[in-house]
Amino acid sequence: MSILNSVTGFFTSKLEEAIGWARKYSIFQYPFVTACCGMEYMATATSHYDMDRFGAGLVRFSPRQSDVLFVVGTISQKMAPVLKKIYDQMCEPKWVVAFGVCTCTGGFYDNYATVMGIDTIIPVDVYIPGCPPRPENVLDGLMKLQEKIQRQKQAV
Ligand code: SF4
Repeated sequence: MSILNSVTGFFTSKLEEAIGWARKYSIFQYPFVTACCGMEYMATATSHYDMDRFGAGLVRFSPRQSDVLFVVGTISQKMAPVLKKIYDQMCEPKWVVAFGVCTCTGGFYDNYATVMGIDTIIPVDVYIPGCPPRPENVLDGLMKLQEKIQRQKQAV
C-alpha cells in the first residue's frame, strides 16, 4: 500500500468511526405501537430510565424524520401492509427493533390473524424478547443497536 493510500485509508476509517459514533447517539425513534407492550415502552421513555442518555430521547411520529422503527405489540395480518409502508417511507440508514415476543415470533397468538414475527415482512436488527420486556431489557436492546450502528460500514 502506498503512503498516500495508507493515509487516506486511516482518514476514511477514522471518519467512519466518527460518523458511527454520531449516529449511535442521535437515534430518532418511530414507535409503531399496537398493543399492551406499549405500556412498558412508555415506562422506558420516562425520566426514571432516561433513554436520553443513549441519545434516543426524541420520538418522531413521522417515518421520514426517523431512523429507528420500534415495533411494539402484536401485528395482525391487516396491519402488516401498514407496517411495511411505514418502513418503506423511512430514509436510509434505518434500523428496526422488534419489541416484545409478539413482534419477534407472534408470541402465543398462534392463529391465522397474527403475523408470526415481523421479520417475515421487514428486516429486523434487534430482537427484545419478553411479555412484556422490562425496561432494563429494552435498554439492553438499545445498547445492542448502538453497537451495531457503530460497527456497520458508514457511507463517507
Ligand atoms: S408481548 Fe405480551 S405484553 Fe407485548 S404485546 Fe404481546 S401479549 Fe402484549
